[in-house]
Amino acid sequence: MPNDQHGEAPPAIPAARPHLGEEEIAAAVAVLRSGMVVQGPEVAAFEEEFTKVSGTAHCVAVNSGTSALQLALMAMGIGPGDEVIVPSFSFAATANAVRLVGAEPVFADIEPDSFCLDPDAASALVGPRTAAVMPVHLYGHPADMDRLGALAERHSLAVLEDACQAHGAQLAGRPVGSFGAAGAFSFYPTKNMHALEGGMVTTDDPQLARTLRLLRNQGMEQRYANEIVGANMRLTDVAAAIGRVQLGRLDEWTEARRANAARLDAGIDAASVVVPPVAPDARHVYHQYTVRAEGRERAIEHLREAGVGAAVYYPTPIHRLAPYAHLGADLPETDRAAGEVLSLPVHPSLTSGDLDRIVDAVNTLERK
Ligand SMILES: *Cc1c(COP(=O)(O)O)cnc(C)c1O
Repeated sequence: MPNDQHGEAPPAIPAARPHLGEEEIAAAVAVLRSGMVVQGPEVAAFEEEFTKVSGTAHCVAVNSGTSALQLALMAMGIGPGDEVIVPSFSFAATANAVRLVGAEPVFADIEPDSFCLDPDAASALVGPRTAAVMPVHLYGHPADMDRLGALAERHSLAVLEDACQAHGAQLAGRPVGSFGAAGAFSFYPTKNMHALEGGMVTTDDPQLARTLRLLRNQGMEQRYANEIVGANMRLTDVAAAIGRVQLGRLDEWTEARRANAARLDAGIDAASVVVPPVAPDARHVYHQYTVRAEGRERAIEHLREAGVGAAVYYPTPIHRLAPYAHLGADLPETDRAAGEVLSLPVHPSLTSGDLDRIVDAVNTLERK
């Protein structure tokens, strides 16, 4: 008899463990006592400090990663009649942002090693309406920005990086979020750092940065002198203060994720599991440690019985979700990945004992 999942206790080693400690709480309370609670000094400081992660001249804070993507597309002038090439193997927000500005996502397949947008597949889909290409640095591994940048240049396309899972990831020493015209980050609790909710648009272009600032706040720089039509995507100072505390620990947490991943790489020798390859010049920040597993559903059950929380991101690729299925995209590598991927815990609060237990659980899969 299969176990009733809903009646089970949560696994001893959860798939993710968002951090919200006393320092974050104190920072939030200090903002509440200050009375300056929305898009004030904490937001300005958070934006300034985040430029060190993105390596860009400008950072514009917003209320979510989805807003960051949407705002960036709006600021780039992408809308009705435009197509944006996106991977389908991502969180739905990637494509939703395109639809929310009135443009159409065009789904391209992924590279099997990195799980990121395949530049050749993207190239084959460029047409007269293509306005932009939107790679996703999935699981914290950078997409192939050299080849995607060359493609964009050849066809005069804008590049927007979905870096929502990749705070601090790099290619040849250059941070993600600095390759495209703009990048978008998320500060949702399960990400590598969070602000309860929040997002950031990163760019080197001062004109684009100004447009982003206008668009997030009703199109105004000076109060009641609205210059253009804008939205309200402002970040609160409570969120920014929490984000700043987390940002101060991002390097330490990223190193812990990378060290945990190295332990898993070295320990896992199960024949039915493929550990995640890393491109030679990439700094992977392991938002997820995602393997391919033969017989995945059985593997998940085995891992859960062993107290290891395993999760699947994403079982249904975006092109098969209700709002996009009619487009009829044919993406064999995306479908294969969706059927095989399994993410093991890699978060910074894992202990050495936890890592041994995860490795043991994976390496005993065959004996089932
Ligand atoms: C989390 C995420 C988003 C959206 O971020 P939110 O802050 O949840 O709106 C977008 N794209 C990807 C790839 C994500 O993982």
